[in-house]
Order: sequence, then structure tokens, then C-alpha cells
Amino acid sequence: MEFISTRGFSDSVSFTEAVSQGLAPDGGLYLPREFPDLSGSFDSWKTLAYDELCFEFFKLFATDMDSSVLQDCIQRAYQNFSVDEVAPLVPITDKWQVLELFHGPTLAFKDFALQLLGNLYEAQIARTGKSLTILGATSGDTGAAAISGLVGKKGVEVFILYPDGKVSPLQERQMTCTESTNVYPLAIEGTFDDAQKTVKEIFADLSFREEVGLSAVNSINLARILAQSVYYLYAWLRLDPVLRQTTSFIVPTGNFGNVFAGWLLTKMNVPIHEFRVATNQNDVLHRLFDTGEYSLSKVCPSLAPSMDIQVASNFERLLYFMMEQDTAKVREVMNAFGHQGRYSFKDFTAGGFSSCRASDDEIPSLISQVWENYHYLVDPHTACAFKDLDPRFPSVILATAHPAKFPSVYEKAKIEIPTSSILESLLSIKPNKYKVGVDPDSVRSFILQKLAK
Ligand SMILES: *Cc1c(COP(=O)(O)O)cnc(C)c1O
Repeated sequence: MEFISTRGFSDSVSFTEAVSQGLAPDGGLYLPREFPDLSGSFDSWKTLAYDELCFEFFKLFATDMDSSVLQDCIQRAYQNFSVDEVAPLVPITDKWQVLELFHGPTLAFKDFALQLLGNLYEAQIARTGKSLTILGATSGDTGAAAISGLVGKKGVEVFILYPDGKVSPLQERQMTCTESTNVYPLAIEGTFDDAQKTVKEIFADLSFREEVGLSAVNSINLARILAQSVYYLYAWLRLDPVLRQTTSFIVPTGNFGNVFAGWLLTKMNVPIHEFRVATNQNDVLHRLFDTGEYSLSKVCPSLAPSMDIQVASNFERLLYFMMEQDTAKVREVMNAFGHQGRYSFKDFTAGGFSSCRASDDEIPSLISQVWENYHYLVDPHTACAFKDLDPRFPSVILATAHPAKFPSVYEKAKIEIPTSSILESLLSIKPNKYKVGVDPDSVRSFILQKLAK
């Protein structure tokens, strides 16, 4: 299987190359050149355990990996989850089910991709003997999940930028209380978008990339997207075959990675009815689906901090399909957007998507309503998914984080604060973080200095 860049100026690469590069050299994002047709596999796949399904799915893409190595990477990744189903579907009404994606080691859905990605990197280093430097930006959960997936792995040094003071205290502890020697959490002045911009600029410096063997753990990495496609497929295969024809997946969204992973299955002939993009008050995607205008505004910190994003990197992957795989058009839109901070689509049709937005005024009351009506406790990100959700239609709501990660919001919602032993155990460890300038030069020199240690 070959992987191509959305911007069309990079050579196609194999799976392991796409994984180790993250971003394509031309600044685009990797996508499979062609898509397998999964429709013939539904019957035989619907009884598979989570890791078995993941293996069958990945085999179709990771064609340059030894299949027993791949299987081992996948099995070990999902052994670290605290429930056997890995991604349980929990009914809360006769129409609604919650897909719980927070049973991994850092209690957010990002563990699905990053536990696996850590193992894929490790396998690659064992094969090539070349060490890797991982660079990422986080609004909280990616950093925690990346660090958990990569901590102590041989040949990998991990540098994660995050906006100082803008991630939750528990998220910060997850990143800074690892007591490891290969992990560097970098607290920067600024927002997540500033951190992401610096990461992208450093990735654009091809000689630096080459020099340190740079790879990305942000959801620009295709392996993350594919790993997330698996739980949509797992859930969809478990739905009642009649009901699922009208079932929507409701997805709390920031960078568009998670919901795109689901939508990608429609390219593989999995007939998923609809995806509903649920944003917080940073609603660039809601406005896009509502009006056809993609326009930046300022990031406004919210109660759902992992969705405090304006530049949704993965939108470029959808754009590639909206532009009918014409990479010149993708470049044109991305350029215009880069210069003007906005782009208006003529005759915008986002087939298969709807959207909603929940502001900070609404999040605590959405949490209370879901608790009172269905006796189910949601975290502030998942709460956004319940905004204007029609009880008459079947929905699968993706629960992206465990409520215990965001205790402060429950005081506002007047609900007893949930706890987690995983998080409590962090309180006895001394945090270790580094302050660096957010400009690419400062970050580059910090990396070089640490690699030389
Ligand atoms: C990262 C994250 C999101 C947003 O996911 P995207 O892939 O960026 O759209 C939503 N909820 C939680 C809890 C997250 O950690």
C-alpha cells in the first residue's frame, strides 16, 4: 500500500515511512493512495475481539511490516487498557449508546493511537537501528498519551510543547510526573495553536528533520488516524443491523482527527449514516459546517481544554476529498488560508456531517442534564456532544475522556467529584518541566542540547 501527500509535492511512501515521518516533506498530510473495500469482511469481523479487529484492519495498510511484529505491537498496546472490551458501548437510552474511549492508561481516547504508535516506533527502531526524536504540541491529552506510549522506549527522545497554565493540573501532572529520562515536557508562553505552529515550522526544516530523525505524534500522523478508525468500526459492527442504518456518531472535536478517522471508513464502503461534529466555544468547525466559511478567530480557553483549537490540522485531509483529490486545489486553499486566516467555500457541501457547539455557559448544565436524565456522568468534552441531540434518533456518542481528569467542572455542575486511582498515584511524584521560548530557534536548540547529553 502506498501513501501520498495531500499537497502532491512529495513522493509516495510506504506505511512505515509515513509513520516515521508524520508530516510529509511538502507540508501535506499522508493518506492512502487507494482504499480497501471492507464490505465483504463485516460478517467475519463482527465477532473479533478489539485487538484482533485492529490487526485485520492494519494488515491492509501496513503492508511493509512483518505481520507477526505488527500483531505483537497491537496486542501489547491494548493489554494496557483496564476493561476487556477495550472500547465498551454503554446504552443510556433505547436510542443512545456511549462509546467509552477512556479506559486506557491516561484516561482519554488518545491512548488508542498512542499506545500503538509507541510500539510501532519501537519496532521500527529495532529494525533500522536509527533512533527517533518525537516532537509534538498538545492541548493536554495528546501530550499525556504520547508520553505514556513512549516513556522508557529505547532510541526515542520525546519533546512535547504545551501552553503553560492552559492545560488542566492533572493533565500537566500526567506529562511531568514520569520520572523518566527520555521525556521533555516544554511549557511555552502562548496557546496550543502557537505551539502547533512552531512544531509545523520545525518539521518544515528538512535538514533539522534529517539530522535528529524527527517524527510527529500529533494527529497529523496517519497511524493515529487509522488506529482511531478501528473503534468506529468495532462499534458499528456491534450495532443492530437495522438501527445502524440511521445511527449517527457524535464526536467531540478539536483538531478534526478523531471524527475524520471515522469518516475515512466511508471511503472503505462502511456505510456510516452521519457524523456530528461537536465543538466547544472554539467553534471554527461548527461555523464551517454551518456556513461554508473556514475562518480563524482567537482561541478562547474553555472548560473542555483539549478542544481549544482554531487551526484544525486534519481538516486538510477532508479538504483533499472535497477537492476531489486535486492536490493543486488543496495547495491553493491552504495557501489562501495561511495568508488570510480564512477561506470561503463556494457551494459548500460537507456530505455526511452535521455540527453543534456548546459554550462554557452550557457545559456544566449539559453535564447535569445527562446525569439527571440518564444517570451517566460525562466529562466536559463529551458533554458538548449532547448539545441539541435529538432523542428520537439513534446515536453513538463518543466519550473522549474520563470525568476524573477534569474535576473542577463538577463543582460548577454541583456533582460529587469523580476520582481515579491512576491520577491519585501521580500526586506523590515530583513534577519535572522545562520552560522554553515558543519560537522555533529556541525549541531547536533545546532539542539539540538534550540529544547531545
Ligand atoms: C483531543 C481531544 C478531543 C479532540 O479530538 P480531535 O481529534 O482533536 O478532534 C476531544 N476530547 C478529548 C478529551 C481530547 O483529548
